[in-house]
Amino acid sequence: MLIFTKIADLRGFLKEIKSLGQSVGFVPTMGALHNGHISLISISKKTCNITVCSIFVNPTQFNDKADLKRYPRMPEKDAAFLENAGCDVLFMPSVEEVYPTEKKEAYDFDYLNTVLEGKFRPGHFNGVAQVVKRLFEIVEPDKAFFGSKDYQQVMIIKALVKQMHSHIEIVSCPILRESDGLAMSSRNTLLSKEEREIATKVPKIMIEAKQLALNKGINEAKQFVDNEVEKVSLMKLEYFEICNADTLKTITDNNVPKNAIALIAVFVGKIRLIDNLPLN
Ligand code: AMP
Repeated sequence: MLIFTKIADLRGFLKEIKSLGQSVGFVPTMGALHNGHISLISISKKTCNITVCSIFVNPTQFNDKADLKRYPRMPEKDAAFLENAGCDVLFMPSVEEVYPTEKKEAYDFDYLNTVLEGKFRPGHFNGVAQVVKRLFEIVEPDKAFFGSKDYQQVMIIKALVKQMHSHIEIVSCPILRESDGLAMSSRNTLLSKEEREIATKVPKIMIEAKQLALNKGINEAKQFVDNEVEKVSLMKLEYFEICNADTLKTITDNNVPKNAIALIAVFVGKIRLIDNLPLN
């Protein structure tokens, strides 16, 4: 695996690769890699000749500075993990390399930016769009792979690519889970043993809420989630919504229509976890 820290060196290499007619798949990450990330690498490897993974903890997408400070960083372990997974290129730039100037860019995602993650993490998607656009311009991949664990993020990236008039294909990949159902996340490593056990409740609550929504209606499902989270003093619900999976508009009817998805953000101690589950 080749490791680049400088944009010019990476672009020089990719120019040669592309001149040979090879396709490039791209997996942007913030590191502290787990098998969820590796699944994106594997999917990229199946359809692209060369797979590039980036590790960059993007400061502009953290609305909470304490969250940025405590974000896990383990570059050597990550590099070994990627090498083992057969990744071809690792790009690990510094903040100065990615953002040589302090110029802030503003993006307009309209309704999509005002709900769920957009509502509770002001500025987050603007930061995501800024870094993904920058990385797309650097790597110029044919395809880019994102996890549907960050469901709303995938929708934002698809909207971004449209706004950029770009031909990059955005591939949404399934959520990888631990054996107890918890969605894999770099943030899971920050949970204490007690919190990690409590976190197991999140996917369980989602599965039960899905059944309730389908059998008894959305209101009962929402009430159930409120009650379950309320019972555990270390848990705090930020949102639980059942939305149209194409628009992320909240479903106001009590019955579950076709193409609905449940999305949750919940704190376990200081650690914020998100998850989602399609209802159909
Ligand atoms: P992150 O490093 O958290 O920014 O994530 C980098 C990419 O990995 C994003 O596209 C995430 O959606 C994806 N990802 C994170 N966790 C998972 C998971 N459990 N399963 C699949 N993809 C994931």
